[in-house]
Amino acid sequence: MTAKNYRSYFSSIIFLSVYSLLMSCNSTATQISEKTIYITIDDAPLSGIDNILSAVEEENVSITLFMVGEHILASNYHQEMLAKAKQNSNILVANHSNSHAHEHYQQFYSSSSGVLDDMQINNRIIGLSKEPFYSRLPGRDVFRLPNLKTEDPYITQQEDENERIDFDALYDHGFFLYGWDLEWSHETSGKPIQSVDKLMQQINYQFTNNSTQTKNHLVLLMHDQMFADHLNGKENLSTLFKALKEAGYKLSALDKYPINQNADN
Ligand SMILES: [Zn+2]
Repeated sequence: MTAKNYRSYFSSIIFLSVYSLLMSCNSTATQISEKTIYITIDDAPLSGIDNILSAVEEENVSITLFMVGEHILASNYHQEMLAKAKQNSNILVANHSNSHAHEHYQQFYSSSSGVLDDMQINNRIIGLSKEPFYSRLPGRDVFRLPNLKTEDPYITQQEDENERIDFDALYDHGFFLYGWDLEWSHETSGKPIQSVDKLMQQINYQFTNNSTQTKNHLVLLMHDQMFADHLNGKENLSTLFKALKEAGYKLSALDKYPINQNADN
């Protein structure tokens, strides 16, 4: 071996050693601080659905799609969107009621049997037959999971007292109810309020301050109509997916949300 070959040989060894050391540090750090984000998109299928399905496919990420029966049945196109969502194994198709309470929430939640009927009708429309039925209630931010039970912080105490019975009855009938930790908010027009950068700051803040329902797991709410063409929806959603991946967050659907933590709840 010539002197030149020796130099080359030893620099390769040094490079490989440093490289493997860096890789092992990196994977250790990931394991220790792994943080998972559950992107949940409500009210589908509406005007953003096509862009949502394309962005999810292109970026190869997992999301949960909370679907509304009356929106699915609105046209053949909307039914095709349901079928397309169900074909993508990265998408958890979940129940967001048949009627969405027709936006009259107090009236809707005044009847436990009515709420249960509405949710069960939507199970049949979507084709959900196996418990647990992954669900989010229209207009209500509540969790009902084996070890996580929270009440809606946005309704009055009186409403809460009237409605708890509905939430508990749904849980008893096999529905897992999911609220959220943070919302990507939108104007009435559907236009997103926070920029992706702002949303990333809010996500980092919640993890840093440990202010999610389950430590290191954040449920992020957004709505289908935010991703319509005229709002640049596909690009906005793809930008968010890329930013989350680059920041090292894991993206999962809600069937991976831990259900055995917060055992004191
Ligand atoms: Zn909704």
